[in-house]
Amino acid sequence: MIGGIPMKTRLTLPALLSAGLLALTVLILGAANPEPPFGATPEPPPQPPKPLAPHVPVTWKAGFARATITPEKLIWMSGYAARKKPAEGKVQDLFAKAMALEDETGGRFVFVTLDLIGVPQGLRWRVAKRAEEQFQLPPERLLLNASHTHSGPEPWRRAEPPTEEQLESQKTRDSWEYTRDLEEKMVAIIGDAIGRLEAARITFGHARCGFAMNRRRDYSLPEGHPNANKAPNPDGPVDHAVPALRIEAPDGALKGVLFGYACHNTSLGFQNYCGDYAGYAQEYLEANREGFQAMFLMGCAGDQNPYPRRSGVVPGVTDLELAMQHGRSLANAVEMALTVNPRGVGGGIVAGYEEIDLVYADPKKPNHPYPVQVVRFGKDVTLVALGSEVVVDYSLRFKKELAGEADVWVAAYSNDYTGYVPSLRVLKEGGYEAAAGHAEDVEDRIASKVRDLYEKTARP
Ligand SMILES: [Zn+2]
Repeated sequence: MIGGIPMKTRLTLPALLSAGLLALTVLILGAANPEPPFGATPEPPPQPPKPLAPHVPVTWKAGFARATITPEKLIWMSGYAARKKPAEGKVQDLFAKAMALEDETGGRFVFVTLDLIGVPQGLRWRVAKRAEEQFQLPPERLLLNASHTHSGPEPWRRAEPPTEEQLESQKTRDSWEYTRDLEEKMVAIIGDAIGRLEAARITFGHARCGFAMNRRRDYSLPEGHPNANKAPNPDGPVDHAVPALRIEAPDGALKGVLFGYACHNTSLGFQNYCGDYAGYAQEYLEANREGFQAMFLMGCAGDQNPYPRRSGVVPGVTDLELAMQHGRSLANAVEMALTVNPRGVGGGIVAGYEEIDLVYADPKKPNHPYPVQVVRFGKDVTLVALGSEVVVDYSLRFKKELAGEADVWVAAYSNDYTGYVPSLRVLKEGGYEAAAGHAEDVEDRIASKVRDLYEKTARP
């Protein structure tokens, strides 16, 4: 015995080293040749995907383009008023992505999706004007949508450029420079996507995803009810649909997907650039597919938040991990939508776009030119795209009102970003999403323009 350790088992340095080496070798070999768990048989390797809808005629052309829009500098971020400092880093790149479609008659439509807080109305106007001048794309045939990530830069929101005086602020200079650069990139990718139009087959499918929950309290509960002042509301209105437009090459190779979900993109509240759950969903969908573009179209998420939300709710799970988890859930739902019951989409595109006056209860507050867009893909898919932060009631209403032969898809955060748009119900209840003080006809005005454009875009 030496020092309490039996002589025979005393560990010398060389013995320790060789034992460590042996353990490492076992570990490496084990990783290379994983033994199936006891009693399990090995799984066959994944098979290459098969063309899903070869029976659907190839009647379209489609083209894709993208640009990285992560700011080159660490500038002020958007979404939370409580932020006291600019961004400190990046955990994921932000993208602008374009998809151009052309039907059999040569009619075109271009979607541009952005990993950004919103689409400032002035930016929409400038990009639409330039796309019309440079690519002869009529404004009603351009849809700009933002993912509402709260981990992106603050764009310049006003229609007019900043004044000399405003430009004295570094924050304003950064925001304006970023927005001008963004405009150039958006116009460029619209042109690139049109320039890359190639024969394509389009199908539509949908699935469901459940992490969005109505974030308002239940205003129908009587005072004194134990849940009267509690939010979120697990029984509140939601739209869990995940619609997906699937674009494949004539040989069946998947080229792109445009998918939607209605939920605030707010898993994160940190100081880094990131696409949040919508950024991760796109990243995961693109991960194992060469030359494939996944694009996210935000739905009527005004009163919807992702849950579980924020650190400490799930033991040991960070906000970033929650963003990835929700991204994975959504990507899984999109994979379902891509594979289940594909519906052939044909018949060509007809689109309508108008800006209506939204009126406020305070007569001194000027009316707002509010964009409403309706896009019909033949008799197969009808897409309603509304501006700003629309609550989920609109989605549920139009899906019911326009229900018929075509699948109905309702997007918000499109072509404008000027705050919340409540339904009459939410306006009457009050609370955060009703604070802009819209007049009580807000829902009526929007609904009657949707109906009007729906009728105008009908094919005989
Ligand atoms: Zn919001």
